[in-house]
Amino acid sequence: MTDTRILVTGGAGFIGSHYVRTLLGPDGPGDVTVTVLDKLTYAGNPANLDDVRSNPRFSFVPGDICDRELVARVVAGHDQIVHFAAESHVDRSIQGAAEFITTNVLGTQTLLDAALRRPGGPVPFLHVSTDEVYGSIDEGSWPETDPLRPNSPYAASKASSDLVALSYHRTHGLDVRVTRCSNNYGHHHFPEKVIPLFITNLLDGHKVPLYGEGLNVRDWLHIDDHVQGLELVRTGGRPGEVYNIGGGTELSNKELTELLLELSGSTWQSVEHVADRLGHDLRYSVDCTKIREELGYRPRKDFTQGLRETFDWYRDNRAWWEPLKNRAAL
Ligand code: NAD
Repeated sequence: MTDTRILVTGGAGFIGSHYVRTLLGPDGPGDVTVTVLDKLTYAGNPANLDDVRSNPRFSFVPGDICDRELVARVVAGHDQIVHFAAESHVDRSIQGAAEFITTNVLGTQTLLDAALRRPGGPVPFLHVSTDEVYGSIDEGSWPETDPLRPNSPYAASKASSDLVALSYHRTHGLDVRVTRCSNNYGHHHFPEKVIPLFITNLLDGHKVPLYGEGLNVRDWLHIDDHVQGLELVRTGGRPGEVYNIGGGTELSNKELTELLLELSGSTWQSVEHVADRLGHDLRYSVDCTKIREELGYRPRKDFTQGLRETFDWYRDNRAWWEPLKNRAAL
């Protein structure tokens, strides 16, 4: 049997690199080769791929998903695309949204076009979207059929790319599968996001900035469980379908902060309440019945254990995050 040649965009980032390390690691499918296409923005980190760099099944192409000619050339040699590349930080999209629209919308459309028009035939396209496309929900959980009501420029750019991806299925018959996951956590997470920011601040004895009263609720998904869900959809999902992927642990930011204070042996003295994020969604909650029933998805990582492991990883890998924090002035 020949290997499936998978093109992973954004594979030098947090989730994409974990996906690549897993695919090429001992628990991977074994019958794949992986090419990462990544622009190496501030969030892309070559060190995230150190574990696989010498693997003969791995290759890396530096470049922008908006570069039509490059994308067509790279896509030509692949059988599947798994698309993570994006501008991903909500706060940055509030400061300036242009890059979000360019990369997340135009970049996705460039890839879809290359997937559709590939010499030798179209290739399946797994689009990694987010639960933020649904907006905010006070009670209950969103099934995949709920309308999209994104609030931040980031979420709106992801909703746009999500819909453009599905349009390539409905219009052209391209095999497009969309996943909408909740908030990921784990190692190698860029230290501007809440969990790694709080852990690294606490490790340094600094205060952590909690938005407003910390009442915003998020569902937390460990990266191992996210990869499990993505692989189920890549290998067994149906073309044209959307699959929610959640972790099953809903916490307010205040509850999350409490757990991180405990892990670091700190108190609420270390917390600074800061002005709330503009347009801050109150609660996200995805209904994962579809992926559970159709593909047998089961999140396995206990949140308390996963958070402790994540805390320990940052404690033990200062050399990974310290330069990133200094460079980004976090
Ligand atoms: P990240 O910011 O850590 O990584 C993004 C990667 O994309 C980086 O390696 C960056 O260099 C690359 N990139 C950015 N612009 C590019 C371009 N124009 N061309 C090529 N590469 C480019 O993001 P992440 O947290 O790993 O998220 C991955 C995907 O998952 C994103 O699509 C994001 O919207 C989605 N997602 C993330 C979360 C989460 O909790 N982190 C939750 C839901 C959905």
